[in-house]
Amino acid sequence: MLKLLKTIIKAGDVTEKYPFKPYEVSDNFRGKPEYNAEQCIACAACTMACPANALTMSTDTASGERKWLFFLGRCIFCGRCEEVCPTKAIRLSQEFELAVFNKQDLFQEAIFQLTDCRVCQRPFAPRKSIEHAIALLVQSGLSLQEAEARRPLFETCPNCKRQQNVTGSPTIFLGQHINQERKEAAK
Ligand code: SF4
Ligand code: SF4
Repeated sequence: MLKLLKTIIKAGDVTEKYPFKPYEVSDNFRGKPEYNAEQCIACAACTMACPANALTMSTDTASGERKWLFFLGRCIFCGRCEEVCPTKAIRLSQEFELAVFNKQDLFQEAIFQLTDCRVCQRPFAPRKSIEHAIALLVQSGLSLQEAEARRPLFETCPNCKRQQNVTGSPTIFLGQHINQERKEAAK
């Protein structure tokens, strides 16, 4: 008995006083995904990577809008969304107290404006994605003027690019265009 008491005293407190005291989770704890719509470019990478379908994206061509939707009730806290997000707009937090009174509180959404294709005038890509792509070109070393010169390529939908290519129009795919320029610069 004395030996048992000694072992218990040596072990100390092994339980937490939660919920009377805040519970501190470990640094790499995977809690509720935190989303920042300002940083999001509506690229849809997270919605494609989410294995539980907690993240979805839908497009309304009539209003020219794309909706990003998160349903916490489906989330399995795997962290795939955080891994694939190019702008760090979604990150797993340390929040674990997730009970709500109203199911609607488990949903989070953001609406993004789409850009109309310069050729067919149909909405096809989020404006923020296009601006992000141009900013990346500038970051990769092009001047703002050179990057802006490529805007028509970004603002043409894949269907119209394909058709213009087939009918012999001077439209060149961005990748081919850049590769060609690099080859010429290397000569
Ligand atoms: S943590 Fe996993 S399940 Fe939850 S939203 Fe992100 S990808 Fe989907
Ligand atoms: S991957 Fe990031 S930037 Fe792309 S839609 Fe998801 S949250 Fe937004």
